[in-house]
Amino acid sequence: MCQERCDNMEVYKTYKFRMYPDLEQQIILNSFLGTSIFIYNHYLNKKEENPSLTFLGMKKDLPNLVREYPWLKDIDGSILRTSIDNLENAFKKYESGLVNKPKYKSYNAKRSYKTICLGGITSSGRKYQNISIDLEKRTIKLPKISEIEIRGYHNLKEFNAKIINVTVEKVAGKYYAFVLVSEDIEIPRFIPNYMIGVDLGVKDLVVCSDGYKFESLKDKLLKYEHKLKGLNKWLSRSEKGSKNRKKIILKIQKVNEKIKNTRKCYNHLITNKLIKENDIIVLETLKVKKMIENGKNHLAKYISNSNFAELIRTLKYKTLWHNKRIYQVNTYYPSSQLCSHCKEKYQGVKDLSVREWECPSCHSLNDRDINASINILDEGMKLYLKDLKRGLCNI
Ligand SMILES: [Zn+2]
Repeated sequence: MCQERCDNMEVYKTYKFRMYPDLEQQIILNSFLGTSIFIYNHYLNKKEENPSLTFLGMKKDLPNLVREYPWLKDIDGSILRTSIDNLENAFKKYESGLVNKPKYKSYNAKRSYKTICLGGITSSGRKYQNISIDLEKRTIKLPKISEIEIRGYHNLKEFNAKIINVTVEKVAGKYYAFVLVSEDIEIPRFIPNYMIGVDLGVKDLVVCSDGYKFESLKDKLLKYEHKLKGLNKWLSRSEKGSKNRKKIILKIQKVNEKIKNTRKCYNHLITNKLIKENDIIVLETLKVKKMIENGKNHLAKYISNSNFAELIRTLKYKTLWHNKRIYQVNTYYPSSQLCSHCKEKYQGVKDLSVREWECPSCHSLNDRDINASINILDEGMKLYLKDLKRGLCNI
């Protein structure tokens, strides 16, 4: 868990910009987005006809396809290859047993395409690059399309990061550019002043050993869930292919986007606070998938709602960037059942409805979640000291 101290590190980051294409640019972007689905479906069909066809073989076949469909010449060439990459990834996931067999993509679904950043030096010594971002003009230049207006990251004055690729997405009628970059970041020195234990719960999403709680998003998301329920009812009653149906689909996409964004913002709010105020963070190891499978329906819903896996993932990369430490205590460590004052085990807490309990041994009154987070902190302290002894932590 402990990383060696280093001064610089290369990290990958994604910047999400909202794009405001004019009408002409919208037509071009829509054709690119459609092409991505066309290529995907075309080679999925070829693969079904001839299972021995390789993905490299598909890429080699691209010039033939362009001869067959000359309009493809006007499309950003990257899209042809990245759509085949997408198909290859879908097959890889299917072969590893993670998902069902790849299906044909519907033109009604969320649309996206990926374009690769290429660059070089011309014979006259001029540097060029097919993708660039100008934060002064607030524009993005993508291959085969004029500069598009963008919004986002108003605090950033310059964009020096090395662009790797851009994924263009159209969701609920809005256009976005996800710009993947590699950046060299400076790693601050690790000074272990503050340590915190974190309990991930159902009633409150995050409970810290200092007593701070982040409540669950359940109530905030409820109004969106009601909206979705109503919209889905309308959708089932609407006529296929009708204008009304398209309107309802757009509304559903908008609500889903709001849910996604609410979760994302909350995730950053929690992780930023934890990272800013602490140097060592101790968590439980959660088997989220198992919990969802085993849990009762309502419990499972809260667990998946709270998106623990994403929270832990975000926390892990942020600790790396800020040179903090993260420890995860063993899955079987009974953090809820031990009294944090005397460490006596009390089985009565196994009942999830018990929110507060008196320790039968030392008679302290324990709040269920805060007690658990203090135990997690103590256990993390042991792990940290073990690392220190083994010389694994460079301070
Ligand atoms: Zn006790």
